[in-house]
Amino acid sequence: MGTEISVYLWHDDPVRGKQALNAIFDEVARLDRLMSTYIEESRISEINRDAARHPVEAGDELFMLIQRSLDISILTKGAFDITYDSVGQHYDFRKGLRPDDETLAEELTRIDYRFVEAHEDGTISFRNDGVRINLGGIAKGYAVEQGVQIAKRFGVTNARVTAGGDTRLLGDRRGTPWMVGVQNPRNEAEVAVTIPLQNEAISTSGDYERFFEQDGERFHHIIVPSTGTPAGEVHSATIIGPDAVITDALSTSVFVMGVDQGLRLIATLPDYEGIVIDSTGEMFYSDGLRPPD
Ligand code: ADP
Ligand code: MG
Repeated sequence: MGTEISVYLWHDDPVRGKQALNAIFDEVARLDRLMSTYIEESRISEINRDAARHPVEAGDELFMLIQRSLDISILTKGAFDITYDSVGQHYDFRKGLRPDDETLAEELTRIDYRFVEAHEDGTISFRNDGVRINLGGIAKGYAVEQGVQIAKRFGVTNARVTAGGDTRLLGDRRGTPWMVGVQNPRNEAEVAVTIPLQNEAISTSGDYERFFEQDGERFHHIIVPSTGTPAGEVHSATIIGPDAVITDALSTSVFVMGVDQGLRLIATLPDYEGIVIDSTGEMFYSDGLRPPD
């Protein structure tokens, strides 16, 4: 997944504890092979290659994640859109590449989640040529959810599983809450706020994860589906709630939607809270979170 994975867990039996760790890392590797658009043989690459010509069998997990992605597109009025990748594929943050104007204009016509059809028989098809999907905005949330499920199967009751900006907590930190820090978007070494949590998920999307700068402008990895260009209003968006799949997708969504629209959406979701840091560094909290004094 091109990201750092970390797992903390306790087990009375060190051998079983090690086995649990290995099983979790194996699971993340399996999901990467399933969902990476960089692996030509992955199922998602097959969908991207063929689904405009004929329906492609997705398999239960991919199907479920695609369907949940489409639901979140509806919820966020298109701010979250896995078809962003027709433009997104032309960015290379390591090499500092971005689509030229002509490519951008052409590929932009292919971004629309309504081009993706999830059929009852478990197949996926695309309504148009050139449509591509990428689950980068939701897959890590699923990976950490799966990680915690595996930990539970090994009898673990307290764990913390993190993949990049997505963390899922199981229980507390053995008697005290887990303390999860939200990074200062412009200073890696500094924590903007620390939140005590247990049994919850927390996801942060930031413009500092993957980016390059060109002519004084920052090009990063969260794309506004209507323009095909990086979202500019905020520096990070953090979502807390019971399900890491949702917190992951919503952190990406709220990043795109910005402070007002984003927090208004979170206010409609009783189990989810959010913290947004705008481009001046100011922090905004959803109603359920009281700002620290
Ligand atoms: P991170 O990868 O840092 O955890 P996010 O959860 O915010 O960050 O996901 C960002 C990823 O989501 C991007 O790298 C890209 O794969 C994907 N993405 C970018 N823009 C969108 C969008 N508008 N809708 C859905 N997915 C997106
Ligand atoms: Mg996300």
